[in-house]
Amino acid sequence: QVRVRIAPSPTGAPHVGTAYIGLFNYVFARVHGGQCVIRIEDTDQARSERRYEEDILRSLRWVGLAWDEGPDRQSERLPVYREHVQQLLDSGAAYRCWCTPERLEAVRQQQRQDKAPMRYDGHCRYLTEAEAKAHGDQPSVVRLKVPEDGSTVVHDAFRDPITIEHGQIDDQVLLKSDGYPTYHLANVVDDHVMEISHVIRAEEWISSTPKHLMLYHAFGWAPPVFMHMPLLRNADRSKISKRKNPVSLRYYERQGYLPEALLNFLALMGWSMPDEREVFTLAEMIESFSFDRISLGGPVFDLQKLEWLNGMYIRQLSPAALSERLLENARAKSRLLDDNAYVDAITPLLQERLRTLGDFQDMAAFFYDTPLAYDKALLLPKGRNPREAVKVLTEVAEVLTRHAGPWQDAELEASVRAYVEGAKWPGRDLFMTLRTAVTGRTASPPLFATMQVLGRDLCLSRLEDAVA
Ligand code: ATP
Ligand code: GLU
Repeated sequence: QVRVRIAPSPTGAPHVGTAYIGLFNYVFARVHGGQCVIRIEDTDQARSERRYEEDILRSLRWVGLAWDEGPDRQSERLPVYREHVQQLLDSGAAYRCWCTPERLEAVRQQQRQDKAPMRYDGHCRYLTEAEAKAHGDQPSVVRLKVPEDGSTVVHDAFRDPITIEHGQIDDQVLLKSDGYPTYHLANVVDDHVMEISHVIRAEEWISSTPKHLMLYHAFGWAPPVFMHMPLLRNADRSKISKRKNPVSLRYYERQGYLPEALLNFLALMGWSMPDEREVFTLAEMIESFSFDRISLGGPVFDLQKLEWLNGMYIRQLSPAALSERLLENARAKSRLLDDNAYVDAITPLLQERLRTLGDFQDMAAFFYDTPLAYDKALLLPKGRNPREAVKVLTEVAEVLTRHAGPWQDAELEASVRAYVEGAKWPGRDLFMTLRTAVTGRTASPPLFATMQVLGRDLCLSRLEDAVA
């Protein structure tokens, strides 16, 4: 029985990679008369947001993918993971670790100095029972006890076996001090409990697979078949990134790409029809699909090709169907109004300035546009040197990346002001540049309140774009 899963993490806008991987999972399930499960991997409490989850599900439906079970949220299955971790503690396959972040940092620093591999030094693994007891209720994590000797062999259906010596594998954390499981633990437990037969995911997860296999072994479970799909690439062959290509599915929707053209395009990334035909429907793909025709060379996400394909699909539509699509696209563009929580957050920022309700669309556009289109010359305050601007923006981006407090108005302002004190530019210039980078405009509602609503991901990716 084939059972596969689509397992997005709701930590950002719906990613084109999720649709790409989702497509191959969906098609594989259909070809084998199996099931496709959707599972929300929201164990990163700081980064997961419900609105991202809703957007991801909506975008997957928009692109034409469907699932037979789910969505299940990992955050609602915490007892399942804790029970499993207890099993490992009981069997001696895992141990509690009380090391403080300061101690771990000191270990890392030493390893950096010694140019030794960065990994946990096993301090708590070797505590005596009495020493462990002495820690009582102090905050702890649970780690996997990776055998000191031997090796694990990763079998991937598309690749030769890869052998990893256990000496190279870290005693990975399974349960965090907040009581949440790590990605590795939750992912493996769920794949087992949900009886997933084939794990089809992006190549970037190959390096996690030995850790997963060690967990299967520790539990005494048979692992699923692993199939790692090649990563989508920018034209320069780097992993596709927001900086060089739009990666949000919402972008493609708003720009008016037809979902069937986008799916067809994603199918061509890493797979081809037996007759090499480039234009085909999802149903035709299912009819002819087999993983024999997978190709692992990093497929380039070529926007021009996508546009060409999209044009083909547009020309195949009857005029009536095309009008229908045009209306749908107009609705999608104003779909902003569908996300109540987001609009509720934006409204107070704009209320002062609205003359008509119609103004909202234009004034709020920068809350939605990805990527932002604006004249980069606006980033430069009068009389300032462009090279300095890049430096300042890069530094501000670093400050904000490191910003550990809540992503909120006052906290953000405090972080940036602390930076301004030592910076080259006066606050006025710096705030102007930051405002332009995150909103694409020189005038906006109050900067930090705006950044709070935009959220961490969007602000950081826009800062990246600004210096690109
Ligand atoms: P970015 O580097 O643009 O922030 P990311 O990897 O952080 O991307 P995620 O939100 O983690 O973005 O990715 C969403 C999903 O898309 C994940 O399942 C990930 O494996 C997959 N994915 C990310 N990048 C690619 C890619 N270049 N090719 C294929 N799949 C990808
Ligand atoms: N949540 C992971 C992701 O975002 C799942 C990776 C996997 O399929 O194991 O891609």
